Amino acid sequence: MINKFKDYSIHTFTSPEESGLVNTQIIETKNNLIVIDAQFLLPDASKAREYIDNLNKPIERLIISHNHPDHWFGSELFKDTKIYALKEVKDEIEQLGDTIINNYQFFNHSGPLVPLMKTVPTHILEEGNLTIDGVEMVVKKVVGTEGETISMLEIPRDNVLIAQDVVYSGCHIFLAQNEKDRANWIKTLEELKDNNYKLVLGGHGTPANNEVFSEVIQYIKDVDDCLKNLNSKNETNKEKAQEYKEYMLGKYPNHKAASLIDITLSYLFPENK
Ligand SMILES: [Zn+2]
Repeated sequence: MINKFKDYSIHTFTSPEESGLVNTQIIETKNNLIVIDAQFLLPDASKAREYIDNLNKPIERLIISHNHPDHWFGSELFKDTKIYALKEVKDEIEQLGDTIINNYQFFNHSGPLVPLMKTVPTHILEEGNLTIDGVEMVVKKVVGTEGETISMLEIPRDNVLIAQDVVYSGCHIFLAQNEKDRANWIKTLEELKDNNYKLVLGGHGTPANNEVFSEVIQYIKDVDDCLKNLNSKNETNKEKAQEYKEYMLGKYPNHKAASLIDITLSYLFPENK
């Protein structure tokens, strides 16, 4: 998917549904490429890199939006580039990266899908104005929503927001956050909604417009209701997980990437409890 503007384009490279419709965004300016997020599974990262290399322009930088593995595991395919992240995100990957990678090694049983070693961002991304190749952007930091700290990139002149995982569009949402972060996430989305963006690019799913904020808010509220109901029941985690899945699939029959519900449930209702 490509969205074109006067002197730049934004390419959205999306992974297959099985790996969660993860988006790598590529801002193509006259002379450069700015890449946002590096994919989860190495084969997807490799395809993203191939797509990027076919654009035949130098990668000015890769930006890692947050510390969730579906956005930085593929960084090892970008070791030849400068890798930027907010200080918090860089620190989190530095400190937690090995543990996260170890937790996912079972993915490698039938072939190399996830990295064996972490690739830590090399540079710190500062909040505020960022102009690259004549395109004026603003780096925004969001705290306590889908992830602990997430960077977004706004292009004010065209009302564009590259929101990454603050927004999901047309697919299920990873929602293992605590009640406080869920409430703060809704508040953040309410505020973003007032900006009337023309194009909103999320970390998973399809490119969207300003309506996506209300859609995500509703999804989080539905999860809140579902969890409130489940927490009042005396059931095993396995039963609760099944009910959550049935409830959300029933509410959102057209949403893609049900695998994102399974990941959510592995955090919310671990099977051994
Ligand atoms: Zn994600």
